[in-house]
Amino acid sequence: MTTPCLALSLDIEVLDGLMRALHADDPRRSQLLRTLEQAFNAVDVRDVSGTAAGARAILAPVLATPARPSALSVVGVGHAHIDTAWLWPLRETVRKCARTFASATRLMDDYPEYHFACSQAVQYDWMERQYPALFERITERVASGQFVPVGGMWVEADMNLPSGESLVRQLVHGQRYFQSRFGVRCTEVWIPDVFGYPASLPQIFAAGGCDRFVTQKLSWNKQNRFPHNTFWWEGLDGSRVLTHFPPVDTYNAEVTGGEMVFSERNFSDHGWSRNALMPFGYGNGGGGPTREDAGAGPSHGRPRRRTHPGHRHHRRLLHRR
Ligand SMILES: [Zn+2]
Repeated sequence: MTTPCLALSLDIEVLDGLMRALHADDPRRSQLLRTLEQAFNAVDVRDVSGTAAGARAILAPVLATPARPSALSVVGVGHAHIDTAWLWPLRETVRKCARTFASATRLMDDYPEYHFACSQAVQYDWMERQYPALFERITERVASGQFVPVGGMWVEADMNLPSGESLVRQLVHGQRYFQSRFGVRCTEVWIPDVFGYPASLPQIFAAGGCDRFVTQKLSWNKQNRFPHNTFWWEGLDGSRVLTHFPPVDTYNAEVTGGEMVFSERNFSDHGWSRNALMPFGYGNGGGGPTREDAGAGPSHGRPRRRTHPGHRHHRRLLHRR
């Protein structure tokens, strides 16, 4: 449960992060600073839990202030990018998955609007074999639409070394698993942390039933900045996949005000799209979103934030508003 103190600290964190990210000459910055001061003054340090609600009431109007109509709409989706094989034994990856997915399903009890996107069929397969009670909870949440299978592949495969045949099999085995266990097929390839993007990929993705593609890795290039965040990627045979690089430039976001402002400033395609994705939660080692991430609310004129499953987000990419 969210206590009054935790709720107040989340409100402050969101507004303080937004205030600090705004330029000094932005009137919203001064408005936020004054309102935060008033809220701090309303807290009695000898009785924080008894006075937190009053302070929150002072912050409520600025939290409720809508974004300007032209603001970027940021779709937040909980995520934990878990490297299936990296710096630890495989048996530890299985345990990381169990901890991460248990906490994701638990947060869904408290936040009905919360969605968690989970890729890599092999990680579901591990839960099915080794944590059947947890797998049952995951299956229920997949059915309710909150736990969202994404990616379509067996693992988030490296794209440099494997042959085309190998990548095709990733999709065949992955999609077959998602179809047989959950009755769904993924429509996007989700490889946020993978190196290598050969020109054959759009054709392979399309043949695997995926017409959308998400990655993050190119934003880490030290020499070149890729010119787009949202674009059609056309492969050798003319197949096209709708591609999105989340402008927050990480797959481990924490949903701070600063990240929201950065997403909007960093987004390259305002001319034709008003939507971007923010995958949030601890990745690499796993863990996923915290209660603080899931509870961070909308606020004063910052880019709009919604939580959505990734596939609905992609449909929205094509809309100007
Ligand atoms: Zn990784």
